[in-house]
Amino acid sequence: MVDFALTEEVEKIRDMTREFAKKELRPAAAELDLIQDPEEAYTSDTMRRVLSRAYEIGFHKMTLGTDVGGLGAPAMTSTIVQEELAVGDAGLASHLLVAPMIAGSAVAGRDRHPFYGEYLDAFVNDTKGEHGGAWAITEPQHGSDLFQFGQPAIHMEAKAIRDGDDYVISGQKSAFVSNGWMADAFLLMVKLDGGDGMEGTATFAIPGDLPGMSRGKPLDKLGLRTLNQAEVFFDDVRIPREFLVMPGGPAYKLLIERIVTAGNTAVGTLAVGVARAAYEEALAYAKERVQGDKVIFEHQVIKMKLFNAFRQIEASRALLWKSSWLLNTGKPHLPTAMAARTLASDMAMQVTADMVQVFGGYGISKENPVEKFYRDAKLLQIMDGTNEVVSLRAAEEL
Ligand SMILES: Cc1cc2nc3c(=O)[nH]c(=O)nc-3n(C[C@H](O)[C@H](O)[C@H](O)COP(=O)(O)OP(=O)(O)OC[C@H]3O[C@@H](n4cnc5c(N)ncnc54)[C@H](O)[C@@H]3O)c2cc1C
Repeated sequence: MVDFALTEEVEKIRDMTREFAKKELRPAAAELDLIQDPEEAYTSDTMRRVLSRAYEIGFHKMTLGTDVGGLGAPAMTSTIVQEELAVGDAGLASHLLVAPMIAGSAVAGRDRHPFYGEYLDAFVNDTKGEHGGAWAITEPQHGSDLFQFGQPAIHMEAKAIRDGDDYVISGQKSAFVSNGWMADAFLLMVKLDGGDGMEGTATFAIPGDLPGMSRGKPLDKLGLRTLNQAEVFFDDVRIPREFLVMPGGPAYKLLIERIVTAGNTAVGTLAVGVARAAYEEALAYAKERVQGDKVIFEHQVIKMKLFNAFRQIEASRALLWKSSWLLNTGKPHLPTAMAARTLASDMAMQVTADMVQVFGGYGISKENPVEKFYRDAKLLQIMDGTNEVVSLRAAEEL
């Protein structure tokens, strides 16, 4: 049976998140977005304050199990929360989405190495926004290549070589690693012992301050300016073999596909949030702004633009909910997630452009929020794989 009804508890969580996004995320993001120097923005009091409010509520640990101190939210609940956070600000919503990555791996690694237990403990008890992970995969010369998994010719340059009981890591990850500048731990995908292709790589979960590790400057960019992104360098970084959390091999591809399915559903959800943010602002404006002796909402062209935005947002959300529901039922479906994500992010690009148009000249002004949503939307067509490459990958499954 298909049922879109939300439980009373999920409705309460959604409403609380909506309020938080409006009162805390939106104003903080508007301020941070205007700071020219990203380093200054990410070290500002505003950044610290907004992260600590989010961590106090527990948005960073929403998906972690209650047995380890998380909130144990199912995939559907977390999709609903992510959309609300993204209506406030998609950059900060992305930060909160990426933050628990290492803590998730730490749950499985607790008995293997003391770092994991200590990290998990610090993460779930963090009320200041000081702990958070990043997922470092792409490299300067290997971006889209990495998402065409299963093809044997594809490889990375960053590598881990076994040396006694340790691995030694060398190489670099791209400037796009989300949370790469602030993260205190990394999920790191590298080529293992001279292997190649998707199955010749492996994933390590490592602390972010190991000798030989360094970061580039935070990326100065078009949109999602509240999300810190930076290169990560590895100069013969020695790690114990217990930090290997996902070895290569036949199961690796399936595991990565599961992560990519969840990732695509999340990126699509951020896009719905950005589109909704622009639509809500434009609808309110259209009902106030008078031109030609009537509010512009009464001009059919404007009214149709707004209806079209509403229609596309609803349709995109419905497909994302299907993808999320499949994740919830333990049957993640990669092509559905990829269809939902590409549909939603292309939709967000179109809708945010149309909503700037509804504002007319005032739409391009930084006095109004819609130009920021338009800039934010662009990055969601590239994040976690470009829409072109994601679509081609999904088409292979047809
Ligand atoms: C907001 C954001 C967040 C990100 N977060 C992370 C992160 O947390 N961790 C991480 O490791 N990386 C992250 N990335 C990197 C992201 O995954 C890459 O930017 C993306 O995969 C594209 O790689 P590229 O930038 O090297 O572009 P390229 O691969 O160089 O692509 C350039 C152009 O060529 C096209 N193209 C490439 N190959 C093909 C093909 N086979 N067929 C048709 N067209 C093709 C692309 O569609 C694109 O238009 C992030 C990126 C963004 C924008």
